[in-house]
Amino acid sequence: MDGNIVSAFIGIGSNLGYPSRQVEAAIDRLSELRGSRLLARSSLYRSTPFGGVEQPDFINAAVHLETTLSPHDLLDGLQHVERAHGRERDGQRWGPRVLDLDLLVYGDSRISEPGLEVPHPGIAERNFVLLPLSEIAPDLDIPGLGPLSSIEVNYREPQIERIA
Ligand code: ADP
Ligand code: MG
Repeated sequence: MDGNIVSAFIGIGSNLGYPSRQVEAAIDRLSELRGSRLLARSSLYRSTPFGGVEQPDFINAAVHLETTLSPHDLLDGLQHVERAHGRERDGQRWGPRVLDLDLLVYGDSRISEPGLEVPHPGIAERNFVLLPLSEIAPDLDIPGLGPLSSIEVNYREPQIERIA
């Protein structure tokens, strides 16, 4: 389904199966999504897990795509990549995952449906989303939230560091 070119941001996370390699491979795959072009990618960040589940550290990153895919087709594409990395969807919430791809922002759209919420509702609370996103789009205006630069980053919880 082709339409206008829209600017979209994807958040990436992994804490299983050599996570930094998972994230790098996911970025390669995202750069090959049909109807889409990779405009920018962030560094990798390491963050400690939250949510009370004992599990390995996460590697996080964010990418900027331009795409002609609809938000639903883009989400389908992301889930296809998750499955290609062996992601299983019946795991525990907040639990370990080989690959998590979240559609953070899709142009200036605001979508609130059972299977798709955009902007992603976790953006403002999650330093592992805010830091990589700020790196590639410091001037981003998040629909419903305002300028990314005006959102306060909690650097301590979870612990996070830029690694590469
Ligand atoms: P989380 O990322 O919150 O830990 P999951 O990755 O398991 O959880 O996602 C569960 C569901 O979230 C998916 O089946 C998807 O339909 C839904 N979802 C809603 N909004 C979004 C979004 N913006 N990006 C990705 N998934 C989303
Ligand atoms: Mg997800």
